[in-house]
Amino acid sequence: MGESNHNIPYGKQHINESDIEAVTEVLKSDYLTQGPKIAEFEEAFANYVESKYAVAVSNGTAALHLCALALDVTEGDKVITTPITFAASANCVRYCGGEVDFADIDPDTYLLDIEKVRKLLEDSPKGTYKGIIPVDFAGRAVNLEAFIELADEYNLWIIEDACHAPGGYFTDSKAKQQRCGNGNFADLAIFSFHPVKHIAAGEGGMITTNDEKLYNKLFKLRSHGITKNKEEFQNSKSFAAGIQNSKFRNSSDHRRIQNYPAWYMEMQELGYNYRLTDFQCALGLSQLQRADEGLVRRREIAKVYDEAFKGKSFIKNQSGVVEGHAYHLYVIEAEDRLGLYNYLREQNIYAQIHYIPLHLMPYYRQFGWKVGDMPHAETYYKHCISLPMFPTLSDEDQQYVIEKIMGYYS
Ligand SMILES: *Cc1c(COP(=O)(O)O)cnc(C)c1O
Repeated sequence: MGESNHNIPYGKQHINESDIEAVTEVLKSDYLTQGPKIAEFEEAFANYVESKYAVAVSNGTAALHLCALALDVTEGDKVITTPITFAASANCVRYCGGEVDFADIDPDTYLLDIEKVRKLLEDSPKGTYKGIIPVDFAGRAVNLEAFIELADEYNLWIIEDACHAPGGYFTDSKAKQQRCGNGNFADLAIFSFHPVKHIAAGEGGMITTNDEKLYNKLFKLRSHGITKNKEEFQNSKSFAAGIQNSKFRNSSDHRRIQNYPAWYMEMQELGYNYRLTDFQCALGLSQLQRADEGLVRRREIAKVYDEAFKGKSFIKNQSGVVEGHAYHLYVIEAEDRLGLYNYLREQNIYAQIHYIPLHLMPYYRQFGWKVGDMPHAETYYKHCISLPMFPTLSDEDQQYVIEKIMGYYS
């Protein structure tokens, strides 16, 4: 095996000729942004995750921010999430002045532990918490049916952070597969199209929902809070037309105005520019067509790792092969993780650590979080390592990774 040729990251995008063609086509068209590809991508994505609506935005973090705004998170609102996630899952609450309360993970699934969430809710006066942000960490779907039952009991909303899990699903109590982001058990769900995620658009994000009201609100918030839909206009037609108290006599003052003029639009809320461009949507759309293929390959790779590590005492609690897992990451807990990580780097295998517990980041420590608060997350952090996992990882390269891991412990 030509070892010097190996240079294996933990994740990697795959751009093919049809992706390039799709982007080039948009570059040659009339629209770079706010063209037809946005709605096309939204519709195709909603179909893919089986939700009613989808709103494309500039990245996954913007998606989270808009969700928090749409759900009216304000100063003092308390929201629960997991410490084993990317910072943005929690930061969106802070953007709106809310407070983040972490609940520990389940040490077997690495997902937000519903029993820990239940305990937080039971131990506080009703109304203390406003929402929950569960994360389909590594691509493993959270059982949202269980979460929504709890959320309904306490009148909470749910934002599903599904960045790791497009195409993933959990099986509900009626044995039905429930796709991540389908909106059946959450108010809103968000995705990211950063190149390490399943579908790459350079940067990009998507919000999915089945709630028409939230959809309309998000649609406006994405673009400055401006609407061009005359059904929603609040100001009068004569104001819009500019003929109210016109300074020219004999002008059109007295004409009856039937319609809003074509230029007219209204800014009704304090929104942002969180739009995604047309050429990014074209790339996302093209990538989406290969999403199922990629998922099949990710599951194959997981199976091979799983077989290779079965019964090995130096690897514990590997995520293993789980039905509906979308395998954004293949995470194991390893003995002497630091040594293994450094050794793999020397072999040009760039494993990664997901994640440093968020409650122990200096930013969150300032709110009083400290070592010992989330024991399962903290123990997990001492051992976790994400192995190379991406659809174009060759069998040969995966074998090389496995060989090196086995070699390290022998
Ligand atoms: C990547 C990611 C985000 C943020 O997405 P960006 O597009 O990078 O802003 C949020 N949450 C999770 C779990 C992620 O992995």
